[in-house]
Amino acid sequence: MRTDYCGELRGEDSGRTVSLCGWVSRRREHGEHLAFIDLRDHTGIVQVVVDHAHDIRSEYVLRVTGKVRMRPEGTRNPNLPTGDVEVCDCEVETLSRAEPPPFPLDERLETDENIRLKYRYVDLRRERMQRNLRVRAKVNSAIRRSMEQQGFVEIETPMLIANTPEGARDFVVPSRLKPGSFYALPQSPQLFKQLCMVGGVDRYYQIARCLRDEDLRADRQFEFTQLDAEASFVSQVDVREFITNAVASATEAVTGQRPAEFPSITWHDAMERYGTDKPDIRFGLELIELTGLFAHTEFKVFQADCVKGIRVPGGADHTRKQLDALTEKVKLWGAKGLVWLKVEEDLSLNSPITKFLSDAETENLLGAMDAEAGDLLLIVADRRATARHVLGLLRLELGRPPVAEGGLHFLWVVDFPLFEDLDEEGLPVPAHHPFTMPKEEDLALLDSEGKGLLEIRAQAYDLVLNGWELGSGSVRVHRPDIQQKVFDAWGIARPDAEQRFGFLLDAFGYGAPPHAGFAFGIDRLVAILVGEENIREVIAFPKTQTGGDPLTEAPMEIAPDHLTDLGLRLLPHKS
Ligand code: ASP
Repeated sequence: MRTDYCGELRGEDSGRTVSLCGWVSRRREHGEHLAFIDLRDHTGIVQVVVDHAHDIRSEYVLRVTGKVRMRPEGTRNPNLPTGDVEVCDCEVETLSRAEPPPFPLDERLETDENIRLKYRYVDLRRERMQRNLRVRAKVNSAIRRSMEQQGFVEIETPMLIANTPEGARDFVVPSRLKPGSFYALPQSPQLFKQLCMVGGVDRYYQIARCLRDEDLRADRQFEFTQLDAEASFVSQVDVREFITNAVASATEAVTGQRPAEFPSITWHDAMERYGTDKPDIRFGLELIELTGLFAHTEFKVFQADCVKGIRVPGGADHTRKQLDALTEKVKLWGAKGLVWLKVEEDLSLNSPITKFLSDAETENLLGAMDAEAGDLLLIVADRRATARHVLGLLRLELGRPPVAEGGLHFLWVVDFPLFEDLDEEGLPVPAHHPFTMPKEEDLALLDSEGKGLLEIRAQAYDLVLNGWELGSGSVRVHRPDIQQKVFDAWGIARPDAEQRFGFLLDAFGYGAPPHAGFAFGIDRLVAILVGEENIREVIAFPKTQTGGDPLTEAPMEIAPDHLTDLGLRLLPHKS
């Protein structure tokens, strides 16, 4: 039906007769016998000159055949790639009429997201969405190519499964043939990819859809897509290299530049220096350790488990009101309070607490924080975990650039602990799923209880990009006896472990190779590559923040007969 795409016509095409197909982006009548139509397809917009456009409306679908010519001098549009040319002497065929669009498609106008999603097919016509979807396709394609080059085989794992142990709630699907029983939708292909290793696949990958019934956020949807990979007879260094290659290729395919560096940091250092296991290293404001400095202080507030601070260069112009607001935030995040000190021109400190500090303490503090005139020093004294966490959030609050700025900074976080902390009941809080291998030298610690478990280091690693956790992976347990011990340490009761994962333990009994793997979120990677704050912008048909799809109206009730078939009866709604 067409010879060319709208957005690709240039001066060199002038004189050619072309046929174009697309949507009417705009029409302008100029008197009786002259009208302009901006015709749009996924490549962009071109101006079409016609005698009249009385019977043409926005978003009509047209086929236009005409001659390309240079626009008259003075009417060229340097902001449009096709702005030097127009198509004239046109024959216009209306292929489809259209209702007035539910919202203006102008990129500059913000439209309520519910309306955009209800009419997603109209929204997708916009340049931003076309770009995002196409970047996503490029990323997928580059990842596939890279994984294949590295000897990985694409294998599809099932969607209707028993259950996965990623720690989120499962979505479930009732079974018709076995009423009262349910399938779970996969939170990840974790168990199947490990079974593939037992099955001799050697290197598996999949661009896998995963489903987790968790609260939605800007970087989280119920369903998301990840590159899922697993390999046998490899070390964690090998796995990080496979993944680095895939991510670097995907990035290069989009930006034209292969990221040069994938530095790594230990989990411990990340927590101490950035207060988080997913540091955004696009900016400084690192956490500075001060506990030792105040070991013998008279100042009650600083007689704490941990004293840490950040230096905000030039931050001394914060008003009292701003500092009070920061203090409020810090309390909401769980700290007892926030100490602030402004560094004056003469390097003296202006703060409500100066009188409690000795001269030596003041001097040491200025030295430890590399303080300069005009700086603001912010200090939290608390339990170590709290101080780190709160300062980590404060650091982001004060310094985090928008997604599209500051470049791409990948970071491997390695040497995760097996358990991050103990919960209120004293049970260990796992850092990863229960198939993660502890470090060889820490295996004996699996027999400890309570705090002792926190000492166990795992062979687990995360990949972080600009402060977003892209993904995680680990060397896996491949021996049934160690696996059983890990389940025990997790507090998974034996009958429970047997019922949920007995098949895996059985499989390990039939000859399991040592293996390791990783998965990273493609939605997140693409969002950052195109500079979107919200992953919904890089998903063709996402759910809203409340988990609904305004377009198809999912989730919806099902017919009573269907419920009966499934052996289900509904309880009265809780509203
Ligand atoms: N299954 C893990 C996840 O989906 C990744 C991995 O350990 O390979 O987060």
